[in-house]
Amino acid sequence: MSAPTNRSLFERAQRVIPGGVNSPVRAFRSVGGTPYFVARAEGAYVWDVEGRRYVDYVQSYGASILGHAHPRVVEAVRRAAGEGTTFGAPTEREVLLAEELCRRVGGLEMVRLTSSGTEAAMSAVRVARGATGRPTVVKFAGCYHGHSDALLAAGGSGVADQGLSGSAGVTPGAVADTVVAPYNRVPEIGDDVAVVMVEPVAANMGLVPPAPGFLEGLRQACDRAGALLCFDEVITGFRLAAGGASERLGVRPDLWCFGKVIGGGLPLGAFGGRRDVMEQLAPLGPVYQAGTLSGNPLATAAGLAVLAELDDAAYTMLEGRATELRTMLAAVLADAGLPAQVPRAGPLLGLHFSATPVTDYDQARAAAESGTYRRFFRALLDRGVALAPGAYEALFPSLAHTRDDIERTADLAAAAARQVSERH
Ligand SMILES: *Cc1c(COP(=O)(O)O)cnc(C)c1O
Repeated sequence: MSAPTNRSLFERAQRVIPGGVNSPVRAFRSVGGTPYFVARAEGAYVWDVEGRRYVDYVQSYGASILGHAHPRVVEAVRRAAGEGTTFGAPTEREVLLAEELCRRVGGLEMVRLTSSGTEAAMSAVRVARGATGRPTVVKFAGCYHGHSDALLAAGGSGVADQGLSGSAGVTPGAVADTVVAPYNRVPEIGDDVAVVMVEPVAANMGLVPPAPGFLEGLRQACDRAGALLCFDEVITGFRLAAGGASERLGVRPDLWCFGKVIGGGLPLGAFGGRRDVMEQLAPLGPVYQAGTLSGNPLATAAGLAVLAELDDAAYTMLEGRATELRTMLAAVLADAGLPAQVPRAGPLLGLHFSATPVTDYDQARAAAESGTYRRFFRALLDRGVALAPGAYEALFPSLAHTRDDIERTADLAAAAARQVSERH
């Protein structure tokens, strides 16, 4: 048998997996072409099954902040696997991880671990409804909170790329208590609202930082209405700062959702917040929530190993790299005459092909639909740099990206930008 190629694997995949992928954006529908199938990854790089190497700014959409296959994480997972991979009984590492999360995030008094960010967000909504006795969830257009029915409307990210406002299979009843408001404007919060769910820095419509006063305004509006405020920090948590976006931006929610970084590349999410709210969960209270693999021994081992590396020096370094990349990318795009915005929030970067700054979902969509991202993505991928295969995703420089990697990226981006602008 000949060695598999990206094309041959994609053809086989499409016969047995819908679209050939287990998460839609991976299918490259919005950028065109055949997805690369990853054979292995290390640090800032991934290699596909054909042996091509890419500087990787996907980094599993932020799940690997140290870069791929970090030796300490690999060792922690290896050791944990040898001790058994799941028990259906509590373990010490769950306690250690919960303690570490609560130690880092001011106001986070209790957490429960899940296996994904979707579960974390879905469960946060349930406990908020249970604690307040109210039905309504307010979310913002372009914010993604996983793929649960009630939260999928106007979900940005891969939902946007599919051209669906939400999803078939979600009944009107399932979203009857969901209200969608434009990002960066404080909506009216009525006394029927259980929870206002928001990405404190939106990172699923490209990167859209909060406007000054937006999060403070939400805090005040929630307090006035007796509603809970939930920050979905699945991307920003333990990335924007040791204490995440709430620390960095100085607004404290009642509830949080986490994922990505805290699993160190394994399936792990968490939701938590005020003790009085979290004590509504079973077995203490009436709100049911559970999971066979929740607090999984491998995932907690990886998460603890990652957090152990994330000290102040690491955050400073990560932000420095992101700042360099931002400056260089903005410069080469401008040199090529491509109108582009490269917003940065701490170590997170965005890329909107727009002449003006993007502050909400309508503007993000207009930028995405110009088609320039698609051409730039392809020109860059051909040169060995992998951005996310969709205009609604952020860029995730990791701690493994060296100054050399950033400079090489900028050189390749300059050539890619020239190629795109010639074709305009
Ligand atoms: C990725 C993401 C989720 C969903 O997490 P999964 O682990 O993919 O289920 C939820 N919220 C935000 C902000 C995310 O970026």
